[in-house]
Amino acid sequence: MQTLSDIGESEIIRRITAGLESSGEVVTGPGDDCAVIRPAGSGDCDWVLTSDPVIENRHFTRDADFAQIGHKAIARTLSDIAAMGADPAWALINIVAPADLPVDDLETLNASMQATASREGMLIIGGDVSQGPELQVHVFGIGRCPTGAAVLRSGACVGDRLYVTGELGGSQLRHHLCFQPRIAEGRFLRDWATAMLDLSDGLATDSHHLAEQSKVGLRLNLSAIPIGPDADQLYDDHSPLYHALTDGEDFELLFCIAADRCAAFDAAWAETMKLPCCAIGEITDAAGRVVTVDAEGQAKPLSDEGFQHFRAR
Ligand SMILES: [Mg+2]
Repeated sequence: MQTLSDIGESEIIRRITAGLESSGEVVTGPGDDCAVIRPAGSGDCDWVLTSDPVIENRHFTRDADFAQIGHKAIARTLSDIAAMGADPAWALINIVAPADLPVDDLETLNASMQATASREGMLIIGGDVSQGPELQVHVFGIGRCPTGAAVLRSGACVGDRLYVTGELGGSQLRHHLCFQPRIAEGRFLRDWATAMLDLSDGLATDSHHLAEQSKVGLRLNLSAIPIGPDADQLYDDHSPLYHALTDGEDFELLFCIAADRCAAFDAAWAETMKLPCCAIGEITDAAGRVVTVDAEGQAKPLSDEGFQHFRAR
């Protein structure tokens, strides 16, 4: 009997989304960081919708700090809204919890979710609770942006430069529980980026998502990839560069800028943003192919060996 682990996350999503109905109000359906909708009479804005689960023993362990779990649950959704260049607006939250969970833990979790949401301009407006075998927090987030301004994964053009914010790798040490969703950066980028996504599955896997959605190729310059200090602290068999390429949950923004706007973009970013960003490659016409180029100029195909749910790594 075939199971989910035989087919993996990408194929599961393909099967679930194949044949979904759409309507004229759906600007962008499944496959991006958020769906984009434009209901009749919605005025001068588009709405972006996303949902995200955070599950015990998958995204955190019970000994994690409940304030960090609450932060992570909201911040993951905020990161998807940021990846559209949109402004956070509302959230609905479902909490599944075992009956023996201490009330104090739930209150810590809840206070943290409210604090993170409030800091980023998102109101929690409802949800539900249910008893279940382990703690799960499901966040449904809604954001908005000016009509037509949402930055999709599908907009990259051959010749565009590829950029990333911040530093990558080693997120499982601590970053995955305390990362800052790149809301301000995403909002800034909606006037510049041709395509964008947030790095949740790792640069290698998410590069393929960008290539597939935009029907282009990517060339990554290995020496330009910003490797974070934690990528060097894992003490396993892999290099810091390997961690920067494949570790999930960096929650940085990967985006494309048209080549003839790069100089102006670099200047505008340096003037406006505190967080560094850097060019790490370019968009090519080799549709669906992602290659890395090392310091000697050697090109190698990059597999999408980042994180996939349902599969052992
Ligand atoms: Mg995302």
